[in-house]
Amino acid sequence: MTAHKTQHAQVLVVGAGPAGMAAATAAANAGAHVTVLDDNPDAGGQIWRGGVPASGDQRDSARDRAFRAFRASTASLQTGRRVIDAPRPRTLRAFSEATGTIETFTWEQLILATGARERLLPFPGWTLPGVFGAGGLQALVKGGFSVAGKRIVVAGSGPLLLAVAAHLQQYGAKVVSVAEQAGLRALIPFAATLCSHPGKVWQGARYRVALRNVGYRTGCWPVAAQGTDKLTAVRLTNGERIWTEPCDLLACGFHLVPNTELPALLGCSLVHNPSGDCVAVDATQRTSLENVYCAGEPTGIAGLDAALLQGRIAGLAAANRPDDAKALFKQRDREQAFGKALDRAFALRSDLRSLARPETIVCRCEDVPYSRLQSQPSWTEAKLQTRCGMGPCQGRICGPAVQTLFGWRNISIRPPLFPVPLSALVSEATLESAGDLSGERPGRDTPPAS
Ligand SMILES: Cc1cc2nc3c(=O)[nH]c(=O)nc-3n(C[C@H](O)[C@H](O)[C@H](O)COP(=O)(O)OP(=O)(O)OC[C@H]3O[C@@H](n4cnc5c(N)ncnc54)[C@H](O)[C@@H]3O)c2cc1C
Repeated sequence: MTAHKTQHAQVLVVGAGPAGMAAATAAANAGAHVTVLDDNPDAGGQIWRGGVPASGDQRDSARDRAFRAFRASTASLQTGRRVIDAPRPRTLRAFSEATGTIETFTWEQLILATGARERLLPFPGWTLPGVFGAGGLQALVKGGFSVAGKRIVVAGSGPLLLAVAAHLQQYGAKVVSVAEQAGLRALIPFAATLCSHPGKVWQGARYRVALRNVGYRTGCWPVAAQGTDKLTAVRLTNGERIWTEPCDLLACGFHLVPNTELPALLGCSLVHNPSGDCVAVDATQRTSLENVYCAGEPTGIAGLDAALLQGRIAGLAAANRPDDAKALFKQRDREQAFGKALDRAFALRSDLRSLARPETIVCRCEDVPYSRLQSQPSWTEAKLQTRCGMGPCQGRICGPAVQTLFGWRNISIRPPLFPVPLSALVSEATLESAGDLSGERPGRDTPPAS
């Protein structure tokens, strides 16, 4: 039988993206014993995973600073660990890729920094080979996938589109055009907001210079991806006319949605926000639960600088340094205001809700077409009747899509949060019944006394 491993951390951080790294560094430097878990092979999260940095990029120095400080701290990083469950109060379980086993972690203070993912919306042809999520394609390229010489249309919504287009071009792709669904009327006030964030103006200007020969169309969105067995062209519209862009690849994502599954499983309160449900936190990043903090994108999509500041505040608060945390509130609030401006500028237009045809697949894992969902009253009913959201991604892709299309929210989060090999679950169950673990479900943590 596999030896069962329980590790204890004074401060346990889930997620080693910018927010988790900043939280762990701050807590460790304040004297806490910190363990960080992440499902990737290294720290860095979505933005800092691998890849060649663009020279002269301000963010590269932010990355270097964050990595140097994190590595110089006493925080212990455990990669390849995906947190799947919270079986008891103050206990998490993670699946370890390397050993194929489930490990148990207990904590005194918990910081959730689980980041965000792309929102993908269904339109005819979106499941064709050659159509990728924008950030997904960027991640593949960072992992070695070659786009050299490929004609790529980048479409959808959000500042990520420009970052992805510049990145793909840097790796030799020919970016044909960038189609942003938000209209100029929404983007002009956003540009004005940027004036109080000179770093972001600089970043945006760098992308525009890099993409000076690429058309950036606002108020423009994809209506179909064409091709028989792979993508050959994308049909784009500006609401008045439709045209065809021949291409090899389409990189398409409609802004980001917070990863709130683990906080929701623990019982943290969520708030509804235009960019999706977010974890509710107080000024110190504490959630509705005692000793549970949340930082970065799960609390709302606000970008790198907000994630770093929220992480530091959560780390300091968890390590009982409230005054040091307080000194960062003003800066953090300014960055969060930027997040609100993002939500307003990149709000999805209603036209995107009518792109899917009856036969368009909405749930890719279970092959559920739009026509089977139209008659359903809720997502629970849709799950029961069609299996929408019940495949391996557990609704991570179709969930935000059906929320946009039908207004359904996912209210049932169940462990394991990610698919786990049966062999790991069986050995875990055997160990539980043999008495290696004590305590009972449910694992919900207690809300603070009010
Ligand atoms: C696909 C994608 C690409 C992006 N690319 C860019 C870009 O090029 N430029 C830019 O400025 N911004 C980019 N962003 C936005 C950027 O990620 C954020 O602005 C910010 O850096 C988020 O930091 P974070 O620490 O909150 O989250 P993240 O960087 O997402 O880090 C969260 C970490 O938690 C891990 N995690 C989540 N759940 C679990 C779990 N259950 N168990 C273990 N580990 C878990 C994740 O794997 C990840 O490593 C991108 C976002 C996405 C989703």
